[in-house]
Amino acid sequence: MIPLRKNIAEMAGYVPGFQPRDEAAWIKLNTNENPYPPSPKVVEAILAEIGSRGESLRKYPDAASRLGREEAGRLYGFDPSWVIMANGSDELLNNLIRAFAGEGEEIAFVHPSYSYYATLAEIQGARVRTFGLTEKWELADFPKRYEGKLFFLVNPNAPLGFTYPLEFIEELAGRCAGMLVVDEAYADFADENALALVKKYENVVVTRTLSKSYSLAGMRLGLAVARPQVIEALDKIRDHYNLDRLAQAAALASLADQTYFAECVRKIRETRAWFTGELRVLGYGVIPSRANFVFATPTDRNGKRVYQGLFDRQILVRHFSDPQLSHGLRISIGTREEMERTLDALREIG
Ligand SMILES: *Cc1c(COP(=O)(O)O)cnc(C)c1O
Repeated sequence: MIPLRKNIAEMAGYVPGFQPRDEAAWIKLNTNENPYPPSPKVVEAILAEIGSRGESLRKYPDAASRLGREEAGRLYGFDPSWVIMANGSDELLNNLIRAFAGEGEEIAFVHPSYSYYATLAEIQGARVRTFGLTEKWELADFPKRYEGKLFFLVNPNAPLGFTYPLEFIEELAGRCAGMLVVDEAYADFADENALALVKKYENVVVTRTLSKSYSLAGMRLGLAVARPQVIEALDKIRDHYNLDRLAQAAALASLADQTYFAECVRKIRETRAWFTGELRVLGYGVIPSRANFVFATPTDRNGKRVYQGLFDRQILVRHFSDPQLSHGLRISIGTREEMERTLDALREIG
């Protein structure tokens, strides 16, 4: 017998979205990647960091990713002591649980949203509670005072794409005895965000990722904004060299090129609005989305059938077997041309 901890031996492990081997043969709309390349300045910065002979790679990176914190702090209007950089925002979600929820203590999140929190809690041995949603996308049965250690709110919600009113998030901050983590993986595609609440409430943490809006899923870059005391705790827990040199160069260059960023986001929002309208013409029910994907339901409410039809045409979207989501599909917003081809396929599938 290998003496694994009981919770590790018993857990299933998280299954990420499918990444096909022959990527170029697919229209890939299943993991909310950005269809546009990162800023050309990112490529320049990475190449400059490597140099002609890779000399810099011999040396450890800056352990604290200081330049990235400063750039993000400038961008969002916070002192760098309120910012931490991470190897993907997933690293932060993990370390928040490690910092705040001990074995047997409770964390919570909304279902449906990001189920990875449950996996991270299982590893830690923390207990998991979920809160459902009403028909009007409000939290069902959230207590007047929630006593758990952490409550994760994905805003805009994934995989559904709607947003909670900012006043409601503010109210939640007051109702949480523990920390309120607003997972803003998609906030760059929305009209509002909760950064101002970090200044106002000491128990609010905002997490961001460069994977989606900055086209850097392959670099693994995320960040969090919170009180310096929280940042200091997260700094104790993280791998001391959590960002490699190339990731740090990429983070800095991409955050600095706001012109390129804004143009990418504009195109995706424009395509999202047009694609939503076209899906409705085809009879699909579509939740108005503030993210870079839409959740769409065919008239026969058989998401699996349409998923398979698209798969057969080498178009990958996300279907969830969860009974609350299996009627629909989450479709990432690609280029206009990719979405036109997806619509053609949906017309064929019927
Ligand atoms: C994509 C995503 C993440 C993970 O982002 P990474 O920075 O790529 O680790 C976190 N939360 C939600 C809700 C996401 O959709």
